[in-house]
Amino acid sequence: MDNAARLVEDATDDAPLGVVAVRALCDFAARAGDLDLRFTPSPSGAEGVEGHGEVTSRRAASYQREVPLATVWNGLRVQGRADGWDPDARRVEEIKTHRGDVALIAPNRRALHRAQAMVYGHILCQQLALEGLETALVYFNIDTQTETPLPQWHSAAELRAHFEDLCTRYAGWARAERAHRVARDAALRELSFPFPAFRAGQRALAEAVHRTHRHSRVLMAQAPTGIGKTLATLFAALKAAPGEGAGPGTDKVFYLTAKTPGRQLALDALATLTQAGTPRAIPLRVLERMARDKACEHPDKACHGESCPLARGFYDRLPAARTAAAQAGRLDKTALREVALAHSVCPYYLGQEMLRWCDVAVGDFNHFFDHGAAWHALTEANGWTVDLLVDEAHNLIERARLMHSATLDPAAFQALRQSAPAALKKPLEKLQRRWSALGKEQTQDHEVLPDVPGEFVATLQGVCSDIGDHLAQHPQDAVDGPLQRWWFDALHFLRVAESFAEHSLCDLTRASQARTQHPQLAIRNVVPGPLLAPRWATAHSTTLFSATLAPMDYVADLLGLPADTLRLDAPSPFSADQLAVRIAPHISTRWADRLTSLDAVVQVIAAQYQSAPGNYLAFFSSFDYLQQALDRLQQHHRELPVWAQSRGMGEPEREAFIARFTEHGQGIGFAVLGGAFGEGIDLPGRRLIGAFIATLGLPQVNPVNEQMRARLQARFGQGYDYAYLFPGLQKVVQAAGRVIRSEQDHGTVWLLDDRFARAEVRRLLPAWWRVG
Ligand code: SF4
Repeated sequence: MDNAARLVEDATDDAPLGVVAVRALCDFAARAGDLDLRFTPSPSGAEGVEGHGEVTSRRAASYQREVPLATVWNGLRVQGRADGWDPDARRVEEIKTHRGDVALIAPNRRALHRAQAMVYGHILCQQLALEGLETALVYFNIDTQTETPLPQWHSAAELRAHFEDLCTRYAGWARAERAHRVARDAALRELSFPFPAFRAGQRALAEAVHRTHRHSRVLMAQAPTGIGKTLATLFAALKAAPGEGAGPGTDKVFYLTAKTPGRQLALDALATLTQAGTPRAIPLRVLERMARDKACEHPDKACHGESCPLARGFYDRLPAARTAAAQAGRLDKTALREVALAHSVCPYYLGQEMLRWCDVAVGDFNHFFDHGAAWHALTEANGWTVDLLVDEAHNLIERARLMHSATLDPAAFQALRQSAPAALKKPLEKLQRRWSALGKEQTQDHEVLPDVPGEFVATLQGVCSDIGDHLAQHPQDAVDGPLQRWWFDALHFLRVAESFAEHSLCDLTRASQARTQHPQLAIRNVVPGPLLAPRWATAHSTTLFSATLAPMDYVADLLGLPADTLRLDAPSPFSADQLAVRIAPHISTRWADRLTSLDAVVQVIAAQYQSAPGNYLAFFSSFDYLQQALDRLQQHHRELPVWAQSRGMGEPEREAFIARFTEHGQGIGFAVLGGAFGEGIDLPGRRLIGAFIATLGLPQVNPVNEQMRARLQARFGQGYDYAYLFPGLQKVVQAAGRVIRSEQDHGTVWLLDDRFARAEVRRLLPAWWRVG
């Protein structure tokens, strides 16, 4: 038996307080002082692994790597892996890779690293009966390949006292957590649906979600708008969360949305389910997460103690803030802010801490699916059992593509060159030359490259490293300046380039004919599936739901869902009598026919409005097309009340647009298909009685989309459908779905294009529609 195996076996399994990783224990109990997120240049994950390998390869043959260690203290099992143990020197090493000056590593980070090394030191002393040993923090500079060791000798008694102090602080919290979990699970087992009956289709959805989460599966559920999907999925996921028998059950449910309004719907549903604010309230900790810029109290400051008062002494005040936040139960953005400010800590970072201790987190797709997404990383690091609910899941295809795509814009680079500090001029000039060389080799205005250009990427890496060093030395340049913004974009490009493969395209696009001008360099993800597959694997179970998940093969292919993914097409609670669906076979909205068909389009709109006055939405494929139709309608029908979506509408303007759809109002709102009003808005009853859709929603035919089509054809054999038809029709069905919101609603949808009559298009429309 080797030493490492013996060290783990020596620990008993008698751990009623549960298991905590050394890293998590130190994170919880050993942090003190300021929050310090100054921009220290950091190596990528792959560089970090390589750096560890390099350091340990320099050690003697007897040196042990990645040593698993565990011990139990008063019912709390503490476990982890020490980076390295040198039995001859009696030295345990904690290896950290870095860039730039080692002196710039914040003192509280070093203290955290030392605490980890000391915990491993204690376990080694305990299990090998040592009187003492040396802990060494080894900082390894990834660029210079040099080590900075910081050794320190400790007696076994000192290490034990340190360990027991950490455990004492953690154990009180762990005891309270265990009690919370027992109470939470008992209450969730008794959870009942908050209404006397399910709506049609809602029960089928809830049952499918419950089965899926009980059996650790993935489910795609298509269910019509208006059946209460949010409530049904949350109810079923929570009901399944305690697990069966003595099983461990779910640690957390992550409710992920594409847009902000979806978060509020989920929070409202959770309040209803848990009877929040009543004496019978279920002890469920709900956390709303938002972007840092929305939660920040001091947008003009940087996240470290010398700049922001809410970062100063953050860790000293965190324990009290954490306790208060845990007791609050529901932590929506308002409640979280109140608790944070009452304890003078940053709301955003208190929220980040509370992710560890919540039962349900409500956030955006990118919290789990983005590159290095925090929720995913924490789930992996802590081994959480997590159930995902992915709302409006049809949006994930496009959102995931964006997350895993990157563009380097030549204009931003040229502006940076003009304003960059003198120390960076040289590396930027080098990048400029590489970029020029790419442009010179380019033979077409839009050119797909076989691979990401290696020399260019290597130069970009060097530039990013130099900028990182500069920002670390000159933190004042790092407060949201152009240099920092460009650096973030370039780092994102490098991260995306690292995982470049068949699922993505790399291309150069020349903005003008001038060969002297640099081309835009882009990596465009086409098939996000291979990048998302590890995320599905991390989750214990997943439900993806939407009113438009058809065709399900298309969605499953692009999202990389497991082959045994369950599928549900929930029956609609609405009857065909509620919705008159009309096709205008005499209208073509193809690009070449648009001008000539404008009169016919406005004629249908006006005739429908005059025969049944009320509130309507009219959807067009672009703002230009919208404007042409609006002008033509006003030319012929001045009397019709109209209002229109405009480019880049802010929140107040969007609200004003929606506010015109009143119960007794009349008029036509002009909007762009796939835009802010094409989905996610709820206009029940007479607030909306009809919609006109003057487009099939097909993406524009251009060189980029044509390349995507070719790649999708090669990969799935359905290039046109996957690149154009299916995403277009999803938008059409979403937009039409605004009309019928309840069993009492009645309305009309006009599909204004002859192609809607084709069989291959008709089969993509909801089964409950009766097209007349
Ligand atoms: S308040 Fe803003 S600047 Fe201060 S720590 Fe929080 S996010 Fe950073």
